[in-house]
Amino acid sequence: MASSTTRRASRAAATTDSTDDPISTKILIIGSGFSGLGMAAQLRRRGYSDFLILEKASSVGGTWRDNTYPGCACDVPSLMYSYSFESRGSWSKVWSSQPEIERYLQDVADKRGVTQKIHFGQKLVSGYWSESESRWHLRTESGREYIAQFVVSGVGALHIPNFPEISGIEDFKGEAFHSAQWDHSVDLEGKRVAVIGTGASAIQFVPFVQKEAMSLKVFQRTPAWVLPRKNFTVPPALRTLLSRLPIARRIARWSVYWGAESLAFGLNGHSNLMRPIERVARWNIERSISDPVLRKKLTPSYRIGCKRILGSNDYYPALAAPNTTVISDRIERVTADSIVTSDGVEHPIDVIIYATGFHVTDGFDQLALKGATGEDLPSHWHQTGINTHLGITTEGFPNLFFLLGPNTGLGHNSVVFMIEQQIKYIMKAIDTVESRGAEKVDVRPSVQERFNTDIQRKLAKGVWTNGGCTSWYLDSQGVNRTVWPGFTWQYWRATKDFDPAEYDIA
Ligand code: NAP
Repeated sequence: MASSTTRRASRAAATTDSTDDPISTKILIIGSGFSGLGMAAQLRRRGYSDFLILEKASSVGGTWRDNTYPGCACDVPSLMYSYSFESRGSWSKVWSSQPEIERYLQDVADKRGVTQKIHFGQKLVSGYWSESESRWHLRTESGREYIAQFVVSGVGALHIPNFPEISGIEDFKGEAFHSAQWDHSVDLEGKRVAVIGTGASAIQFVPFVQKEAMSLKVFQRTPAWVLPRKNFTVPPALRTLLSRLPIARRIARWSVYWGAESLAFGLNGHSNLMRPIERVARWNIERSISDPVLRKKLTPSYRIGCKRILGSNDYYPALAAPNTTVISDRIERVTADSIVTSDGVEHPIDVIIYATGFHVTDGFDQLALKGATGEDLPSHWHQTGINTHLGITTEGFPNLFFLLGPNTGLGHNSVVFMIEQQIKYIMKAIDTVESRGAEKVDVRPSVQERFNTDIQRKLAKGVWTNGGCTSWYLDSQGVNRTVWPGFTWQYWRATKDFDPAEYDIA
């Protein structure tokens, strides 16, 4: 099998055709992560060939291409964190690592005949809807223009690194990088390393950094709840069974699915049900950390589930190691060679690793598309708040669809399930337009408003609002624009039919 690097290089070569003429296609997909590839694979399956994918990078995989930090792995079992139409029994671990997931996505793209539909190195910069033509005109950074009847956004939410606004960070003279842009050329051996942030990314790479660094200082603003988790290598016999017997694979997949779904009760209005899980997380701290001061620092004061629930057997032992210090004092400033905290202590540092997450609710700012009124999507949403119907369509932006759009993220199950429901819904929308001999579809404002009122009412009861924390699920106004409130089967039910009465179709 070709190495990842070789495959990336060959994909980069596919970008070189150049033309000044606009490129026309029926369906234009933005991004080739789980969302964009899934959409393209299903279009292929349904016999569509008139579509293209714009990909800003030189290979597929989205967040699973970009995040290459040591220990990067999915935190939903791979049997479920994969497409139902491309399920696999050969996953080597229960929670697969990033290289295996990236390879899976490359394989799906090749096997499903999608790779040749991707224009690599094409970063979307602007676009507008032409009412007279009923077409989208999109422009990429390289100056190419694309014209499409339908645009499907698969840009994802977790890919624009968030750097903290800390005074002096630009003055730092040592090595510094974000966890999503891991600099593998930096040797951490014998260095004084600082990690800022203690979320899902940090807990995965901290154990590796602790082993290499001379000293590790973990700057924690809010502790995370971390459940015990041992990642198992799947025995070869079980892999063979799951690979050869689709029914066994299906049963295993459904067990994972329903196990995860049960968490939705506690997250959505019955937060007392989260207490037993919280007790397990407390026990995880107690069994791993003997120092009472450190224990206290690491014990969250909010309800488990309010921030993403994490799992690791290695994180706490790495924090308890003699070369690690957890610092919970606020960072005041960064100097050329140190981090200064609010208690006045100056911590000399050689390398800073930012594990400070992503621009999530403002991540859609990159979709600078002007809709039917000429207003662009980010400005529109800055004024109205992020509002959609089912997280898939938004009023005034005809023929534009979102995969993993607003309020369809999850804190308890696989987002690939959500993506697949959205793909089916979008196909039905396109089919409806086609079968009516129409050109465009735009969601009715009243339908969108009803949907948003309903989910915000449900979210008000959820742990993300009442759990006593702030998180990236909330926008700058404290409104949850990220999470689907409820069971994922409820989302399946809400999206299984495309109701033309909810749309203006012309
Ligand atoms: P994150 O969960 O948003 O964590 C960011 C961390 O940085 C938090 O501890 C945050 O503290 C801290 N932080 C942010 N700004 C700061 C500042 N100015 N000063 C000090 N600390 C600051 O980001 P992430 O760990 O990259 O994970 C993001 C999401 O990606 C996850 O929730 C998950 O959905 C996904 N992810 C998944 C996996 C997986 O599947 N295994 C792995 C990695 C990431 P506060 O808590 O106080 O804000």
